[in-house]
Amino acid sequence: MAKAAKKPAAKKKAAPKKPAKKKSAKPISLHPLIDSGKLGKAKPKFAGGTLTCKCTTDPVSITIKGQTAHNHACGCSKCWKPAGATFAIVAVTGRDNVSVVANGHKLKVIDASATIQRNACSACGTHMFGRVENTKHGFYGLDFVHTELSKEKGWAEPTFAAFVSSVIETGTDPAKMPAIRARLKKVGLPPYDVLSPALMDYLATHAAKQSGVIKG
Ligand SMILES: [Zn+2]
Ligand SMILES: [Zn+2]
Repeated sequence: MAKAAKKPAAKKKAAPKKPAKKKSAKPISLHPLIDSGKLGKAKPKFAGGTLTCKCTTDPVSITIKGQTAHNHACGCSKCWKPAGATFAIVAVTGRDNVSVVANGHKLKVIDASATIQRNACSACGTHMFGRVENTKHGFYGLDFVHTELSKEKGWAEPTFAAFVSSVIETGTDPAKMPAIRARLKKVGLPPYDVLSPALMDYLATHAAKQSGVIKG
């Protein structure tokens, strides 16, 4: 009797494949302080501090009274960022909290037609504060500042990322966007393509009050 046909030999089990990880490339760079994990943490009852531009002689200095709000990573093309950064880090304070204390003569508004008028050092280019001068705008009364220009520790850390898709406009490869968004989430900065829901609600409420939809 012919032997039953031999069962086809079970396929040799291949050694379990390691997940095809490419030699882990350097994590995508967002901002030197985010990349190095040196953002710091908000101190309770933080009194504020002094922000200084990058000039080695006669730097512009401003003081900010108190803690900032809504600190975030910003991917727009207009905010100042340090060399090598994909995102700026920018926070909000009341304009009355900001005082120019040294070499204010070097400050120049870089685009007077922009909603946020960025007062920059005309020598080194660092933006010292961005001011909303349009009294009808929802952000009137607020200044935008970069607390990384201060030596004091205790400023509020960024809590979200705004205008993320806009980094494409400053030269980021669109193919890198999923990796950028994933990394932002990983470091605790939920990515938005405009502003955070809190700030968008704030602007929409202002618009609704102006048009009379909301009274008050
Ligand atoms: Zn300067
Ligand atoms: Zn920006």
